[in-house]
Amino acid sequence: MEPIIELHNVSYKYPNGPKALDNVSFTINHGEKIALVGPNGAGKSTLLLMFNGMLKPDSGEILFNGKKLTYDREALREIRRRVGFVFQNPDTQTIAPTVYQDVAFGPVNLGMSRDEVRTVVFDALNDTGLAGFERRPIHQLSGGEKKRAAMAGILAMNPDVLVFDEPTSALDPAGSEDIMELLDEMQVNGKTIIISTHDVELAYPWADRVLLIKGGTVLLAGKPGDVFYNKDLVRSCKLSMPVLLELYEGLSEKGMPQIEKLPKSALDFITYLCENCGLQRKEEKTCGDIYLADVEHTSPEIVQNLLASGSIAAVGAMGTKAKTFAGNGNICPEFTYGVIDKCVLKAINKKNTLILTSGGMFARVHTRVEAFNQEYDQHIRVIENF
Ligand code: ADP
Repeated sequence: MEPIIELHNVSYKYPNGPKALDNVSFTINHGEKIALVGPNGAGKSTLLLMFNGMLKPDSGEILFNGKKLTYDREALREIRRRVGFVFQNPDTQTIAPTVYQDVAFGPVNLGMSRDEVRTVVFDALNDTGLAGFERRPIHQLSGGEKKRAAMAGILAMNPDVLVFDEPTSALDPAGSEDIMELLDEMQVNGKTIIISTHDVELAYPWADRVLLIKGGTVLLAGKPGDVFYNKDLVRSCKLSMPVLLELYEGLSEKGMPQIEKLPKSALDFITYLCENCGLQRKEEKTCGDIYLADVEHTSPEIVQNLLASGSIAAVGAMGTKAKTFAGNGNICPEFTYGVIDKCVLKAINKKNTLILTSGGMFARVHTRVEAFNQEYDQHIRVIENF
């Protein structure tokens, strides 16, 4: 794995304020999904502001792609193009009266031609599910739409790294799931994603790596399970363990066998229970199928025909294109987040499902289902041609 951002012994004190970062060192690699997790005041936002030079360390250094960050005008301009920052409150970020003008602001400042600006703005609006919103006044958008508009403004500059301060704050559960799925999609498309949050339930299944932050220091960095299954440490940060880990720990204490891979999703947990509580006989192998449609290479009619057959118990839509496809085809997906696991769960309950997706997320379905089949000796089929 290649480092994209490195911090070496970074310390920072706000003028007339407390020491917010104390000798922080860590590395973030290309393409990782990183969650900085900690209580309020831990230093998460301060750390995020270091990544694109909005704050400058008092001591220590920051490297981007191996090159030390300098703070002259040209270097700052470049780093801000490479590392896009989405603020917690989208009102801080949105500046122009309409969605189009707002998203175009960055590209115009980068000196792009009118045609280029138009292309990147429309692409970014499509990618964030805001196609058709071009002329809408920003102040009339919902919280989730404003957040998407802010994300579109960043995506239009095609950064390598996307930094989100509390990406789901003030959003309802559906809005939060939409945003998290969008972050997944961006990562599948090659971006490195860094978020800050105090929501352990959000960070646990999502992140590749978690950095637990408290009092301006990184207490522990590692895989989410390794970090969060550390009850005392997590409690010391005024956080709680993710509920799946609480349950797993409780059952372990009652004598349930421990497993190597900690449960990260309802699917993992239910499978764990089934395997250990005699809820499903191991030799029972009949499963439902997962139908998989690439929305860029299929038509709503083909999908409608499959649904009309009555054999599909639920539909999942992964990614913005799939959701747009579903909307245009009057298809109402039951699952829009954690789609693969939810469909696998249906499959082990002998129900067929359909996943609509596109691009890099398509391969993910095969990978996850194959891994599940291997791990639990199941035979869930992924059917592409129907
Ligand atoms: P978090 O994002 O984890 O809630 P912050 O990075 O916002 O934490 O804050 C870290 C510490 O720095 C806190 O003690 C906070 O009060 C202080 N702080 C944050 N922003 C400022 C500021 N602009 N001026 C002075 N102190 C600040």
